[in-house]
Amino acid sequence: MKFKYCPKCGNELIGKYSWDEGEVPYCPVDDIMYFDTPKPCVVVAVIKDNNILLLKQSYIFKDSKVLVSGYVTNGETVEETVYREVKEETGIMVSNIKYLGSEYLPSKELIMLTFMADYLEGEINKSDEVEWVDWRELKNALCEMKEDEIGKNVVRKVLKKIGYDEEKAYICDNNKK
Ligand SMILES: [Zn+2]
Repeated sequence: MKFKYCPKCGNELIGKYSWDEGEVPYCPVDDIMYFDTPKPCVVVAVIKDNNILLLKQSYIFKDSKVLVSGYVTNGETVEETVYREVKEETGIMVSNIKYLGSEYLPSKELIMLTFMADYLEGEINKSDEVEWVDWRELKNALCEMKEDEIGKNVVRKVLKKIGYDEEKAYICDNNKK
């Protein structure tokens, strides 16, 4: 987001030169430069044997299931976000977090840091912001996540990473790699 006014004091920002960035919106009162940065969030595929943890949140996608996701809160590491969001949304504790790469979502200016993680312990105990959460077989995941293109990319990476080779995993995949 390009800032026009200072979020701290409300003054109109002026342009200030910053090396390679060129002119950056700047508040002379607070001495802060407001760089045009995306909002970081995490997307996590939680794996337990041949199952994956899927959620239903209609405000994200009406007819699709999705992976655990959430914003990185100021003050925590991205790894802490992964543990916290999985625990908050599903009640599950994870371990062995692996980074799978990032995806950019222009419509929401989100930089999505994607991960897989192993189930460690806990029973499913969903938060109120989640309508439904349960384990689904990996081979059905891509079929159940029709609308969620970024989530499906994460699942494809997981399948590749664990060497999952059941053909059925890809029957709903028109983007087979
Ligand atoms: Zn200010």
